[in-house]
Amino acid sequence: MLKGAATTMVHAALLILSSLVAGTLQFQLKHHNNEELLQVLQDVNSRCPNITRIYTLTETSVLGTPLYLIEFSTKPGHHEIMKPEFKYIANMHGNEVLGRELMLKLADFLCEQYMSGNSNIQSLIEKTRIHLMPTMNPDGWQLATDTGGKDYLIGRTNNNSVDLNRNFPNLNRIMYSNEENHLDHNNHLLAQLTRLKEPLQPETKAVIRLIMQIPFVLSANLHGGDLVANYPYDESRTGSQKDEYSGTPDDETFKHLALAYSTHHSDMANPTRRGCGDVDSNRFGKQGGITNGAKWYSLAGGMQDFNYLSSNDFEITLELGCDKYPPTKVLQQEWDRNKEALLNYMWQSHIGVKGIVYDNVAKRGIANAVIHVKNITNGKYQDIQHDVVSVHDGDYFRLLTPGKYKITAYKDGYLPHSRIVTVTNPAHSSAQRVDFALKPISVPPYVRIQSNSYADLDFDDKYGDLQEAWTNWINLNREPIAVQ
Ligand SMILES: [Zn+2]
Repeated sequence: MLKGAATTMVHAALLILSSLVAGTLQFQLKHHNNEELLQVLQDVNSRCPNITRIYTLTETSVLGTPLYLIEFSTKPGHHEIMKPEFKYIANMHGNEVLGRELMLKLADFLCEQYMSGNSNIQSLIEKTRIHLMPTMNPDGWQLATDTGGKDYLIGRTNNNSVDLNRNFPNLNRIMYSNEENHLDHNNHLLAQLTRLKEPLQPETKAVIRLIMQIPFVLSANLHGGDLVANYPYDESRTGSQKDEYSGTPDDETFKHLALAYSTHHSDMANPTRRGCGDVDSNRFGKQGGITNGAKWYSLAGGMQDFNYLSSNDFEITLELGCDKYPPTKVLQQEWDRNKEALLNYMWQSHIGVKGIVYDNVAKRGIANAVIHVKNITNGKYQDIQHDVVSVHDGDYFRLLTPGKYKITAYKDGYLPHSRIVTVTNPAHSSAQRVDFALKPISVPPYVRIQSNSYADLDFDDKYGDLQEAWTNWINLNREPIAVQ
């Protein structure tokens, strides 16, 4: 018996030793501190070196903690032509911690399932470049944790007491003024920004650079305190504090995206579930688990609206539960409740159309061409007043719900080209490919060599000032630093 116990102990010790040698430790759902967070990412990276990369943003938190992301891709470190880019950012409010642990579990899960041959996960990673940022506010997390994680507000802000989800440049006011003045400038609005309400915090600056650098198509921002998928705009058009539905030109697509999360969560969209607070707080369940941001309450300077108005990215905000700092014992259950929703939402990077805009004489991609969409479903003839632009090598991505559309690609110096497209969005497959061959109005004198950096993009007149704005605000030349 004694011998048996000793053998078991030796066995256990050997198991731990062998897993240490292999660089792998069994992932555990618990609250990981800022050092353990990096260890989990490094462990995932060591198990899945060919499909992951850890990188840090250009700034640290106020207290000097690096801001880490892990990327999943078949070509880590690179944008691949026609492969959509996706991101999840969690724990922006330091005391809202469930998203942080879900991101670590998701990283572990994607690696494990890819390696064990789960064809759905393999297909997702082969078709999509995925970026996960477990915490945008490690300082707030530390304060919330050190003070017991029970307070509704302690740890919410960064270490300068600034709410990061109010610190982004307010592009809504620019957009709403353009709408009133019938100006067609409806995207990449940083160029029009002339002043900031308050200085940008390092965490905000770091994420703005990320948004400018990587051509994201879809993202979500993970919070806690309620249970609902919230879609743009967050800031109301009139300035009203609440109850004012303020939809974007992509309202149909955003509702679809929010529902893609809520209806795959175990009870976000359950109409009979209990709400989080006041008497009428169960209304979110009754409306499919989704809400327009400004209809709930209006906020200015949020990250969600900034993504949509400064880049090609579509972002929603996920409130993952009533309890902002849930106890360790419910983390497994929370993973089970959110897992399918997290995966289904990432797959939405593939709805709509994508393709290449290219010069049909020089046979090369055209960066920064404007893609404009008109919804012509059932005899409608409705312009969607939010254009996306083509990226690096002329590839573009345009999220759309099923229907019939007239899509036009424009670029100065070329004849516009329109195509009629029927979008069906079959599940788990890449977006339908629609290319645009643009004919030069006159033969260009010399075809510039295209670089892979946004800083070298050839901007047309409409977006001519964009480059200066980006350079001034964003200091584009710094690549995220790889950490191994
Ligand atoms: Zn929050």
